[in-house]
Amino acid sequence: MHNLKAIIFDKDDTFMKDQVYSPSISVDLLFEDTVQSCKIFHDCGYFLFIISNQSGIERGYFNEQELLSNFIDFNNKLFLSNGFRIDGFFYCPHDPSSLCLCRKPNIGMYYQIKALFQIDTKNSFYIGDRLADIEFAQNAGLVPVIIHRPDYSYKHQSTYDDMDLIEQEEENEHVAIFPSLLSFSQTIEKFYKKNTNFVL
Ligand SMILES: [Zn+2]
Repeated sequence: MHNLKAIIFDKDDTFMKDQVYSPSISVDLLFEDTVQSCKIFHDCGYFLFIISNQSGIERGYFNEQELLSNFIDFNNKLFLSNGFRIDGFFYCPHDPSSLCLCRKPNIGMYYQIKALFQIDTKNSFYIGDRLADIEFAQNAGLVPVIIHRPDYSYKHQSTYDDMDLIEQEEENEHVAIFPSLLSFSQTIEKFYKKNTNFVL
């Protein structure tokens, strides 16, 4: 039975601030509402995953061991301070030229999660900050959510270029845009308390 609800995060500029081609995963890089929001998702019964394109590995900027040991260290600290963990971290180590099946918006990383967890895809969310994230969610059958932080995103060219297109998607009701992780988590909590699921 596929009955586990999941929140799957894009790592860079959604879950934590991006450090280009770096294996950094640390508490210092989190947005101020990341932990509180994750706690709400966790308390509402969601499994938590992070997925990330990490082409810096194949490009030779860092190796998988550095990335994984940073994640384990981060996850242990999260657990010690807050009593919950991220349930899984998946990454694509390949350069785009490899044409692999795991680099987003391909959905190889979602298959990796599904091989280990019985995910209820239709009632699970993929949270990102870019147009490619919507594409990934739709390819996987997950509900796409975009976090567009007005005070942060516009300083970062990556999301700025995408916003018009993302807003068109929202008008067509293909995606929900929230100004913060916290506002999305509070929406999820509201539905949880009413014993219903948030749907687009
Ligand atoms: Zn890959």
